[in-house]
Amino acid sequence: MRVIGIEGTAWAASAALFDSDADEVVIESDPYEPDSGGIHPREAAEHMGEAIPSVVETVLDRAAETAEGETIEIDAVAFSRGPGLGPCLRIVGTAARALAQTLDVPLVGVNHMVAHLEIGRYQSGFDSPVCLNASGANAHLLGYHNGRYRVLGETMDTGVGNAIDKFTRHVGWTHPGGPKVERAARDGEFHELPYVVKGMDFSFSGIMSAAKQAADDGVPVEDICAGLQETIFGMLAEVAERALSLTGTDELVLGGGVGQNDRLREMLRTMCEQRGAEFYAPEPRFLRDNAGMIAVLGARMYEAGDTLSVSESSVDPNFRPDQVPVTWRDGEES
Ligand code: ATP
Repeated sequence: MRVIGIEGTAWAASAALFDSDADEVVIESDPYEPDSGGIHPREAAEHMGEAIPSVVETVLDRAAETAEGETIEIDAVAFSRGPGLGPCLRIVGTAARALAQTLDVPLVGVNHMVAHLEIGRYQSGFDSPVCLNASGANAHLLGYHNGRYRVLGETMDTGVGNAIDKFTRHVGWTHPGGPKVERAARDGEFHELPYVVKGMDFSFSGIMSAAKQAADDGVPVEDICAGLQETIFGMLAEVAERALSLTGTDELVLGGGVGQNDRLREMLRTMCEQRGAEFYAPEPRFLRDNAGMIAVLGARMYEAGDTLSVSESSVDPNFRPDQVPVTWRDGEES
């Protein structure tokens, strides 16, 4: 089976072709990189409009080269339906509908956050893991129960990556800030910042205000970056551990662009080792926003008959993971 995935919730205009027989995912991405400031929804949508057709074409061309003249049968087109920036999602939805109708194949609407989870579950072979999604616009723990992914804990304000990016904009660094914080933290000494976990939820806005204030007060930026990483990732690891404990699960997967951070992965791995749990983090191309995860989950949904007619395929900027009926795990234990 071959499924095309299209992703474009925020910054990555991305297309992928998943060939389930070869277990191969070809991904082509074109990032939107703002000249200054953060992600501007209108500019990001303009980028999607220009880049999506060409990434789709590139993926199809690469598949044609591999097929050496043989016709490539596509079974379905999957697209990220939300959550994300409305203007970007609408472009992606339109592109996916047009492509599905042109190829005369079914359309599959994928929840972007569930795709972040499922790519880790698929690649690890884990049965029923807890998932920590640490991405730009989100931060939450998910666990499967009774046909849905339940939100076990989440941010009470901004996403974790967006919070880090706001601090780096304050100190004059270009977007995205996460990799720059990771590099700077290597030369820094821990600077204490507020640690905010309430039950199973966490908050980042107070930490960011304190980090910005520290920068204004002349604390070396490397020290603040070290403090940010230890504090924020410590909070995520604490709640991830509690989610493992509460669910009785001994498998943790990581999803989302912040998951590319070595220190976060190290903390989660150590926590899992200490409690005898297994930990899996996908390779970076499957952690940051990418169409590969959309194509892979799209294939499983297509197999389960979970497709959409064009009239019901509207996008949803606030599409929560717990709104998704998990059709592709039917028959698995909860
Ligand atoms: P979402 O999946 O919630 O829609 P998103 O669209 O912002 O999030 P992602 O690719 O999942 O996209 O994550 C991007 C975020 O990851 C940015 O905030 C960026 O700063 C952060 N990030 C990237 N690399 C690193 C790193 N090495 N350390 C920390 N953060 C990082």
